[in-house]
Order: sequence, then C-alpha cells, then structure tokens
Amino acid sequence: MSDKVQFIGCQRCGNCCRVEGHVRLRDADIARLAAFLQLSEPEFIQQYTEVARDRRSLVLKDQANNACIFLANNQCRVYVAKPLQCGGFPLRWHVPGWEKWCQGARVIPVTPNRKQVDTA
Ligand code: SF4
Repeated sequence: MSDKVQFIGCQRCGNCCRVEGHVRLRDADIARLAAFLQLSEPEFIQQYTEVARDRRSLVLKDQANNACIFLANNQCRVYVAKPLQCGGFPLRWHVPGWEKWCQGARVIPVTPNRKQVDTA
C-alpha cells in the first residue's frame, strides 16, 4: 500500500524551478511575459526561449546549472506573469518522486486497517 501525499502550500523553496525538464510556453504566456518584461514578443522569444527537444513548442531557456532562466536568489523574477505550467505544479500536474524535493509536500504513511491485514 503506498503512502498518501498532500500538498500543504508552496514554501517558496524554488526546487520546482531547478528540476530537469521543459517549461513549455503557450502564446498567452509569451504575450504576458513579454509585456511584463517590457519587451516585444520577438525580443522575448530571442532572449529567453529555445525550441523544445521534441520541437513541438518553445520553452524557457535554462541557466548553466539547469535552473529556470528566471530564478534569481531563489525567487522567480516573473512570478506575477509566470507561465501557466509553473502555476499548475503540483496540484494540476507533477512528476514521479516530486514529494522528495517539494518542501510543500507531506507524506502521510498509510497503515493498513484490520480488515486489509486479515485478508492479505
Ligand atoms: S518545489 Fe514546492 S514548495 Fe518549492 S517552490 Fe515549488 S511548489 Fe513551492
């Protein structure tokens, strides 16, 4: 029986901004981020994006240490305009093992009840 994982709220640890993987951008993300940074959309695309490995979308560039390009001093520099994908973690989507590095995750051990033990 697997343990239960609960999300108690973002603790601002920044770990989800450092995990391996793409932050895919939709058209609305690009428009919002460009406006927030006071750039034109082509300027934003040139400076902050690259083509995903699967070539299906634009994604945010990473820093050399794999952190998101917008992570600075453990804070998101574009928090109020962040991509939809970032806002969806971890309640709308997450990756296997997320509870090991997300400081907002609480693992609740599940103990089998008497009936389950008896029938095992
Ligand atoms: S890993 Fe979890 S607690 Fe840390 S910043 Fe991301 S959502 Fe918040």
